Amino acid sequence: MRIKPYPLMKGKANMSRFFDKRFSFLTPYVPGEQPKDINKLIKLNTNENPYPPSPRVTEILRKVEANSLKFYPDPTNASLVKAIADYNNVSPSQVVLGNGSDEILAFCFHAFCEKGAAFADITYGFYKVFAEMFCREYESIPLRNDYSIGIDDYKDTRSTIFIANPNAPTGMLLSQKEIESLLKQNTNRLIIIDEAYIDFGGKSAIPLLKNYDNLIVVQTFSKSRCLAGARLGYAIATEELAAELNAMKFSFNPYNINSLTMLIGQESVEDVKYFDYCNSLIIETRDYTALELQKLGFDVLESKANFLFVKHKEFKSGEDYYLALKKKGILVRYFNLPRIKNFVRISIGTTGEMESLLSATKDILKEV
Ligand SMILES: *Cc1c(COP(=O)(O)O)cnc(C)c1O
Repeated sequence: MRIKPYPLMKGKANMSRFFDKRFSFLTPYVPGEQPKDINKLIKLNTNENPYPPSPRVTEILRKVEANSLKFYPDPTNASLVKAIADYNNVSPSQVVLGNGSDEILAFCFHAFCEKGAAFADITYGFYKVFAEMFCREYESIPLRNDYSIGIDDYKDTRSTIFIANPNAPTGMLLSQKEIESLLKQNTNRLIIIDEAYIDFGGKSAIPLLKNYDNLIVVQTFSKSRCLAGARLGYAIATEELAAELNAMKFSFNPYNINSLTMLIGQESVEDVKYFDYCNSLIIETRDYTALELQKLGFDVLESKANFLFVKHKEFKSGEDYYLALKKKGILVRYFNLPRIKNFVRISIGTTGEMESLLSATKDILKEV
């Protein structure tokens, strides 16, 4: 299905006379709830990590001198870029940093979608928002009936393809082999793999950059590195594509990474042990929770992310289960969208938080 946002544009009744009509059709992204009484709730709605960042992050923040903030940060982000490059076995000239991976994705939609963009009908909601903001047209490619991404369904598109791997909100993973088939289908077509959740059991596409120049891999510190509040993401690509992404960054905001985030990010990347430990905890808790929910009669999609996408025949809609959990102080996320109305997305918290979710769910099922 090919969709052209621009012809749909209509002046909105409540638009000021100053607002550029090109943007009157925008439907901004709606983030998950960030309630004020965050410590009274069990928050399993935005895929944040329940664990604190590396202890080395705490330590560096304690040492920061406020006086150092009077200077602009290094616009090339040299030390953090080097740390990320070393960790991923690539050259620093292949790494570009963003204020969250959302900013990197925005640069990609802006820079590389002259022939349009293509992405799944059920995927990260921001792709559609960016496509409407930056692209002349975009294609929505339906997931298969089992909610998987069918590589063959992309064969005929010439648009730049955006794939979240694992996909959100399904959690389902494509293998490195499948990503490689996608790259091979048409080497004159760019593929952007958004690996926000790759550290929870998937295999990154980064090694494929050795053999393919039509690939950009995007990763973030928000999920597996417990640093959603620091706003840090990055792209890894060929030197040529990285230089073009940097051209976008330096034409928009050369200082997109603040000094504190640069320090924090470096400590996090260098603490490999803590990173691996946290991820193994999440994986173990996820697989345990999935089993327990299945025992209660839930359909649980196979997740390689830090969340589960589930439905239960006792609930008429995901919203019903969401509301029942909210009454018990547990926040999850539902999507009022075709095909996934019955599902709820549950982020993986600590083992204690997941026990609370399971026991609240048992009570709710008794009541319905
Ligand atoms: C959370 C998420 C992001 C955005 O992460 P930030 O780095 O916090 O901007 C990007 N893509 C997907 C699929 C996500 O779930």
